[in-house]
This record gives sequence, structure tokens and C-alpha cells, in this order.
Amino acid sequence: MTVQPSPADPAATRVLVLNSGSSSVKYQLLDMADHSRLAVGLVERIGEETSRLAHTPSGEGERRERTGPIPDHEAALKAVAEELAADGLGLDSPELAAIGHRVVHGGKWFTEPTVIDDAVLKEIERLVPVAPLHNPANLTGIRTAQALNPGLPQVAVFDTTFHTTMPEHAARYAIDVRTADDHRIRRYGFHGTSHAYVSRETAKLLGKDPSEVNVIVLHLGNGASASAVEGGRCVDTSMGLTPLEGLVMGTRSGDIDPAVVFHLGRVAGMSADEVDELLNKKSGLVGLCGDNDMREIRRRVEEGDEAAKLAFDIYTHRLKKYIGAYYAVLGRVDAVVFTAGVGENSAPVREAAVAGLEELGLAVDSDRNAARDGGPRLISPDYARVAVAVVPTDEELEIAQQTYALVNAPAA
Ligand code: AMP
Repeated sequence: MTVQPSPADPAATRVLVLNSGSSSVKYQLLDMADHSRLAVGLVERIGEETSRLAHTPSGEGERRERTGPIPDHEAALKAVAEELAADGLGLDSPELAAIGHRVVHGGKWFTEPTVIDDAVLKEIERLVPVAPLHNPANLTGIRTAQALNPGLPQVAVFDTTFHTTMPEHAARYAIDVRTADDHRIRRYGFHGTSHAYVSRETAKLLGKDPSEVNVIVLHLGNGASASAVEGGRCVDTSMGLTPLEGLVMGTRSGDIDPAVVFHLGRVAGMSADEVDELLNKKSGLVGLCGDNDMREIRRRVEEGDEAAKLAFDIYTHRLKKYIGAYYAVLGRVDAVVFTAGVGENSAPVREAAVAGLEELGLAVDSDRNAARDGGPRLISPDYARVAVAVVPTDEELEIAQQTYALVNAPAA
């Protein structure tokens, strides 16, 4: 489903990336001529008395903050536009080529980034039942941005797109086919922009073309997902119909026997919404030990805290299971790569996840693993058959690149 825009003015090299959550808006203004960030900011607690906008311009500019009620997304985006305009970077500036929106759920229909028109908006809306927390906020962000500058191309970049290459045998659940089709139940996968960016950057690190390498990507942030990427195409991923399935996360359980849900209904008298809340918000690391920040969990482990140690062990055991599973799916693996907040920063998680997998050609060099370095790097010893790497993710750059490429594509 592609709407072809007219090619942008070649002098327009800037892209505003908007990530609208239920009560927050994150934004970055990038210049695609040199990939520099001209401004970075966040509006949080939208709809509360204590809303806050933090805006950081590039270069010498001082970080600015606004506090006080910001009632809704419209007011939030207006405030963002004012902050950008104060730096001469307003939404009406001729250098702005487009706005790229992160949209969480694009189903299996959006197989590429898409210029937004009314039909696209309708389709994103149709997907609300499978992404009730995310898609409505994304829609509000898009509509408000359109109202602020109706002439500017707006592009949707979906978290699900990278995973639309999964074969049916990976994407289908083994349930009644009619029921699944009637309710669009299948594995969609999320964090797709991150998996796409990181798998490509890993190929670069190995000095190869993405089409030549098989990579297992472990995106470990507060949400976490794994994917198996064969020659640049996703062939399996751990998140499913929703971002609840798969790895243990900050507050989500990841994989669980679905019968636990019926059991809690029958035995504990919990409603579907209560179980939903339990599994999404009160489970994972926070459910196991009360903390979801890996730094705090490691501090407690070092002090001998049993609950924190068990949480850490469950988290890394699940990671190891997925490495093994995706190794089998891919057959040959060139690299296992860690990314996002935990993956980029927690040496103990990386070490524990691949410990004991020497027979699979996987090992971590302790000095390389412990080294602090912001860039992509190998942490496996030189002799290892499979590279283990840390590659920082950059979802905003990926969204900006995809948006810019689309608005500059020659007309079909
Ligand atoms: P993200 O969702 O990618 O922003 O990741 C956020 C998570 O990264 C936090 O909840 C922490 O668990 C983790 N994290 C951030 N910094 C560190 C660090 N220095 N060491 C270990 N974990 C970290």
C-alpha cells in the first residue's frame, strides 16, 4: 500500500521524527545531509497537571524546559512546534522535507513505510483492536501534525514492517485457522525498525553485505524482543500478536502457558482486564523482584539479594533459549548482537546469555565485554566461529532515513 509523494525540494533535507505514546511525545529533528540532530525533545505526562516538555537544541543551544499542564497531544505538538520555531526550525521552514511517524502496529498489510493519506489513516485505525494502547496515540500524533502543516508529507514507519517477511510457518499460531483469520490473530512482531537497523549495522561491522549474513538480534530495552534475520530478511521474531510474547521484559512476562490466564480467571476470579494488567504491567523483572532497571537488579545481585538473582537468572535463561531456537531456525549464524538499554549496557546479561554455548561457536571475551564504548563493537574472542557484538540501536535515524528515502523517491 504505497502512495507516491511528489519528490521533495532537494534543499529540504530535514526530517522531524515523532514518536507519540499514550501520554508522551518524543521527537528528534534530523538533517539527512549529514545525519546530525538539530533538536531532541520529549513531552511527558500529557493530560496531567505536571506535564513537562524538555527540548535540547544542537550545538551551543541550552536545554529548555516547560512545566505545567499540557492537556492533550494537540497542545503538546503545538508546544513542540513553538520550541522548534524559537530555534528557527519551525514546521513551516522550507528545509523540512517531511515528518516521519513511528506507528506501532501496521498489521501484515504495511510491508513498507507509507506516505499517509486518508486511506492509510483508516487502515491504522482498523488495527486499533490489536494495538489498543499504541495505535490511537500514533493516530492522534499524525492528525495533529497534519493540522499544523497540511502541505507537509507525513510518513508512517511501522514497528511491524520488518517482520512482514516472516514465512507463514513462523507467523501463524497453531490454532483454528478460521478463528485466527476472522480476528487477524498471528505473529506480527515489534521493534522492527530497531531489528532492521541493527542487523544492517552488524553486517557493516562484519564487513559484509546484509544479504550475506545471518544474525540473531536481541533488542533488550524495557520491552525486549529477539529476531532471526536471514540475509537481511526477518524469518522469525519473539513478539507476537502483541508485544507481550517472548523474552522476559521490564514489566511483561513474555512467554507463558496460555492456560495460566484461564486458571487465574477460574481460581483467582480475575477478569480478563486484570490478567492483562498483571501480565503487561506487574510481571517480568518487576513482578519477580520489584525492580525493572537492570542496573538496580545487578546492584542487588552483587549484595547477595536472592530475589534479584532469581529474576536475573530467569531473564538470561529465556534469552539463551531464544538464541538456541533461532540458531536452529537459521542453521548457520554469523553474529549474535545485543542492543537497546540492557543489551548495550549490561555486560553481565551478555555474558550469562551466551555462557555454555561454546559448542555452538559462541563465546564472550571478558575484557571486550566489559569495555565501555558507545559504538558498534565485537565482544567475542578472535577465535570464535560466531561473532558476538554490541550495536547501539538508533530507531529515530532509521525512521528518518526511511521517511527521507520515500519522499525523495522518483515518481513511479
Ligand atoms: P530502553 O527501553 O532501550 O531505553 O532501555 C531501558 C532499560 O535499559 C532500563 O530499564 C534499564 O533496565 C536498562 N539500562 C539502561 N542503562 C543501563 C546500564 N548502564 N546498565 C544496565 N542496564 C541499563
